[in-house]
This record gives sequence, C-alpha cells and structure tokens, in this order.
Amino acid sequence: MTARPFTVLISGGGIGGLAAALALRERGIRVRVFERATELRDGGAGLHIWTNGTIALQRLGVLDEVLETAPIQHITHFGTWRGDLFGAWPVGDFVDRYGAPTIAVERSVLHRVLSAAVSAYPAGTEIRTGAGVAGFEQDHAGVTVKLSDGERVHGDVLIGADGINGAVRPGLLGERPPRYTGYIAWRGKAVLRHEKIPPGTFYALFGPGTRFTFYDVAPGVVHWMSVANGAPGGRDTGDVRAMLLARHRGWMPPIADILEATPPEAIIRSDVLDRPPDRRWGSGRVSLLGDAAHPITFNIGQGACQALEDALVLAEELDTTDPVNALRRYEKQRRARTAGLQQVAHRIGRLGALENPLLIRLRELGMRAVWPRLVFRIAERDQIAYATRWRTPAKPLPDKSFQTDGA
Ligand SMILES: Cc1cc2nc3c(=O)[nH]c(=O)nc-3n(C[C@H](O)[C@H](O)[C@H](O)COP(=O)(O)OP(=O)(O)OC[C@H]3O[C@@H](n4cnc5c(N)ncnc54)[C@H](O)[C@@H]3O)c2cc1C
Repeated sequence: MTARPFTVLISGGGIGGLAAALALRERGIRVRVFERATELRDGGAGLHIWTNGTIALQRLGVLDEVLETAPIQHITHFGTWRGDLFGAWPVGDFVDRYGAPTIAVERSVLHRVLSAAVSAYPAGTEIRTGAGVAGFEQDHAGVTVKLSDGERVHGDVLIGADGINGAVRPGLLGERPPRYTGYIAWRGKAVLRHEKIPPGTFYALFGPGTRFTFYDVAPGVVHWMSVANGAPGGRDTGDVRAMLLARHRGWMPPIADILEATPPEAIIRSDVLDRPPDRRWGSGRVSLLGDAAHPITFNIGQGACQALEDALVLAEELDTTDPVNALRRYEKQRRARTAGLQQVAHRIGRLGALENPLLIRLRELGMRAVWPRLVFRIAERDQIAYATRWRTPAKPLPDKSFQTDGA
C-alpha cells in the first residue's frame, strides 16, 4: 500500500470516528483520532444494524468478528402495546438478496471491534483518549486543532465525528442547539432467556404517547427501550424500574419480565434530539461525519448505519482527489443520502408520540394497511439497497451466528 501524503485529524472516537479511521487507514491515509472520554468505549445497550450497515462493516473487514456475538435478525415485528402484531418483516431474507444480514449488536462490541481493527495499523495511526477538541483554525496549507488542554495539533484535514453536540460543528455552522423531539428514551439490558424472545426477533410496540422495543443482542441478552413524551432535562428520582413497570403495566408479555430482569442502576435515560438537515456540512479542509453531520432519531435505526456509510465514502473521496475537493464531493453524496432519512425518522417519531385516542386508532389502521405492503418495501429500497455498491463477493456466513440461544 502506498502511503498517502496527508494526515486526517478526527475529533471523536465513537462508531463514526473509528469507522472513518479504519476506512482511511485501509487506503494508506494517516489518521489521528482525538477522543474526549478517558477510555475508548461506547456505553448504552444495543444497536440494530441494518443490512446497509453490515455491508459497510463487511467492506471494512470486521463483519465476521462482529457476528461472533451479534445475532442475525430474522423477523422485525410491529404492533400495538396490547400485542396485536400487524407487521412481520422477514429481514432475514436480506442475506439472500444482499449477501449480508441485519443484526443486533451491543454497542460496546461494535466499538471494541472497530478500535481493535484501527489499532492493527500502528504506523500512521494515533488514537488519543482524554483529548477533547475545543476548536480549530484552518488556512490554505492545513488545519490546526485546539485541544482542551491548550495543545495544538496540525494536520491536512479535520473531520468532526464528535456527535450531535460536537466541538467542530460550531466552527463551521455556528452555535445552534439540537432540536428536542418531545420524547425521552430509557434504555436497558436484561440477562434473560424467554420463550417469547426467539433468537433474532425485534419487536416495536406502540402505545399512547409511549413505545417499547426489544431484541436480543447476544445469546440470553435482551436490549430494550421505553420511550415516552415529556419535558426535556428531567431526571429520574426514586425507583426507575418501578416507574417503567407501572408505565407498561398490561402491555404484552414479556415486557414485565424484561424490565424485572434489568438492573435499575444500568438504565440510561436520554432526551431524544436531532437536527433538521443542514445545507452545508463543511468548509475548506474541515467536514463533519455521523451524528455531528446528520443526527437521525432511532425511529429508523439508521444513525450508526449512516455513520458507517459516511466513513466509506469519505475514504473513497480522499483517496481520489485533493482534500478540499474530496470533502465537498463527500458532503454532496452524503447529504443527498442522509437528509431524507433524517426527515423520515423525525416524522415516524411524531407518529409514535401520538396521544389522542382517535389519532392512535387511525395510526393503527394505517399501519396495519400500509406497513407490510408498502413501508417495508420502500424502506428496503431507500435504506438497505443503497449499500449494494460496496458488496464484496458472497462468502458463507458463520453457522453459529444463526444460533443465538446459546445452544
Ligand atoms: C436511543 C437510541 C437508539 C439508537 N438506536 C440505533 C440503532 O438501532 N441503529 C442505528 O444505526 N443507530 C441508532 N442510534 C443512533 C446511533 O447511536 C448514532 O447515530 C451513532 O452513535 C453515531 O455515532 P457517531 O460516532 O457519529 O457519534 P457518537 O456515538 O455520539 O460519538 C461521538 C464521540 O465523540 C466524542 N466527543 C464528543 N465531543 C468531543 C470533543 N469535543 N472532542 C473529542 N471527542 C469528543 C464522544 O465522547 C463520542 O465518543 C440510536 C440512538 C439513540 C439515542
């Protein structure tokens, strides 16, 4: 591999920053990653990585390792809180159509696999933790990152992969707080084997102003999320698990069992934020990636998948032309791809937040009528099929990835 004569500085060592570092290193481009946290880790339960995201992981050479623990998803169910299931999406079929599965994975696993893969390129790679980026300056010759401790680091390109409240974005687009969606997510992880949680199944259940999703992220490990409308900036006082059990009383089984099996101290609460699509993400030698560029609410499970796609396109473009042109070409492609997804996710979130009983009835009728026939088809076309451009030659998937029940 011929080393490319420039260095990319990356602010943020989350899924997006690490994937970008890996994609760039594969092309011989030097990277320096600055992560504010003192340890490289990503807390917060599980992620659904759709087939477009796993094709990106395959292209990055890390899918097999991720599949060592992450179960392949077979069916995604949508339904009401009462357990009236009106849409079963056979996502397991994506393996035949696209050569890669949709999976559920613990965030920490994805994070570990990506960081190990980046570290396998010791020459020309630096991952520095406890290194918060505070700002940057650029001129025609390069870019200088200012770290929180006052140190200045020079490079040729800067990528802000530092999340929805990142430090690079304000220097490009001005200070603008993210948009609060009106709902809050509580997430947790239960160690539980249950006959009603067959391996590789995802459930999204809709109630009045509240939702519950669950899926297995590893054999006997269930990730769940409870979503409810509320004011931002709140904190849980008292017994959070009891509060969630009360909220979901009477909901279909095994929701109560899942909550009972979750250690309350590990339940994470977060206000759900996003931003409307921006017209511009970068300037000169600086650009954004992942949530820093295009935060997408969890409603379509595409935020991390899009960060993975960003990483591939960024590396492709930086390998092709001069950095400034490459960044503009990258932004153009990725904005066209992600703007619609940001909007769709936001709208689905509003649908999920309905509280009026009449509107909820209409939602249920509408979902029953169009979800399986139309929505699944459109989502597959618009979200999944895009990634076929990165498909690598078909290779049999490891058998054990289909056995998620610990057998
Ligand atoms: C409840 C919920 C459920 C979700 N479910 C899914 C799902 O199922 N599927 C999916 O694809 N996506 C999902 N997402 C979205 C997904 O989590 C994000 O899109 C993804 O984590 C974005 O990765 P990122 O690397 O761009 O940003 P982040 O994960 O936010 O990482 C940013 C990193 O930058 C670091 N950082 C921040 N500021 C600085 C600074 N100043 N200097 C240096 N480092 C800094 C942070 O410490 C962090 O490590 C979900 C999101 C939520 C909230």
